Amino acid sequence: MLKNDQLDQWDREAFFHPSTHLAQHARGESPNRIVTGGNGVYIEDRDGNKLLDAFAGLYCVNVGYGRTEIADAIAEQAKELAYYHAYVGHGTEASIRLAKMIVDRAPENMSKVYFGLGGSDANETNVKLIWYYNNILGRPEKKKIISRWRGYHGSGLMTGSLTGLELFHKKFDLPLAQVVHTEAPYYYRRPDLAMSEEQFTAHCVAELEALIEREGADTIAAFIGEPVLGTGGIVPPPAGYWAAIQKVLRKHDILLVADEVVTGFGRLGSMFGSIHYDMEPDLITIAKGLTSAYAPLSGSIVGKKMWEVLERGTDEYGPIGHGWTYSAHPIGAAAGIANLELVDKLGLVKNAGETGAYFVNAMRDAIGAHAQVGEVRGEGMLCAVEFVKERENRQFFDASEKIGPQMAAALLEQGVIGRAMPQGDILGFAPPLCLTREEADRIVDATAKAVNTVF
Ligand code: PLP
Repeated sequence: MLKNDQLDQWDREAFFHPSTHLAQHARGESPNRIVTGGNGVYIEDRDGNKLLDAFAGLYCVNVGYGRTEIADAIAEQAKELAYYHAYVGHGTEASIRLAKMIVDRAPENMSKVYFGLGGSDANETNVKLIWYYNNILGRPEKKKIISRWRGYHGSGLMTGSLTGLELFHKKFDLPLAQVVHTEAPYYYRRPDLAMSEEQFTAHCVAELEALIEREGADTIAAFIGEPVLGTGGIVPPPAGYWAAIQKVLRKHDILLVADEVVTGFGRLGSMFGSIHYDMEPDLITIAKGLTSAYAPLSGSIVGKKMWEVLERGTDEYGPIGHGWTYSAHPIGAAAGIANLELVDKLGLVKNAGETGAYFVNAMRDAIGAHAQVGEVRGEGMLCAVEFVKERENRQFFDASEKIGPQMAAALLEQGVIGRAMPQGDILGFAPPLCLTREEADRIVDATAKAVNTVF
């Protein structure tokens, strides 16, 4: 084991951390927790602190930490065959078995899985498949992708553009021109307080229709959305939202991509968010919960309608020119199989629905009436607390007041990890799906104490 001082020095000398204030980190001003172990919903750091991880890493360790079933499956696969590629029809038993398990669990009209490494590259794949699809159909102008403000779809050039958060565009010359953004389905931040949920849904639909009208439907290929907005604030959609949006998309022959990187494999209490909200996507993005982050693996689940066109395209133009060396990596696939088996065996989808509802209700009961709590919201094992300066007239905090980070720090003092969402005034929770009611109570108690500390 390296000594702490040595580790800190090398960390600053050699390690470029993602999504980090680089200058503060270099000066030793930002937290540099070095995590050494994990078990269940707890992680441990090098100083011996045991922390309840109420964000499951980055909403990904769905089955919890320390699952030896997955570790053993990874080790066995590595010993037997650590790697072979999937190009030109090759594969391994693990990758084929996992593809079948995914399609069996996916909504009805889904056909095949293209494997990647993370959510960002899976969404890059989606955009390329959408463009290929429209080129094969002889409509090269139909290329733009509609995304929502506050959506999060990754950090690549295209996916960073799809992401509707300024932080991910700033100084990177994004978004790219093929991306257009529309209203976030964020009822709490509706433009007019007098609007009902249904009226707000109608407002989002009208905004979408106006955008399509402005751009021209023949230039718009697809609409991408998370069933529940995640990084943009953990925001479940208003009543009737997905049904109404899909109606517009169908009218204009616009494909729907459900980005289920967070919601896939049970987080909402249904196997997929698409099933939870009766969505009929043409493509589904999966990552995090696919392996519970025991190994990097993602996928694009391609619907039947698109698949037929893709096949036809290769008859006309030859093999599809899209491949990653590590697509369908056998170690990731072995982790995925063991993970999905564990999700089934432990009944984690059901637990996410039931214990998730208990957790959100307990949070609302504990702090919902506090003068600075604007809203406690959630769905399944996702929960957010939005803080406000003034409840009655929804006076929001300025991002510079850093209420979210203050709250997360106060929570950490109680031994619980929550996430200050990028907007600044929202504290987010996405615990492992194996959370118990006792553990939920602990998160709620710690949050109540944190609220009383900060305000
Ligand atoms: N899509 C969604 C909805 C996400 O939440 C994320 C990551 O948080 C991504 C895509 C990007 O995934 P990755 O960070 O694995 O590239």
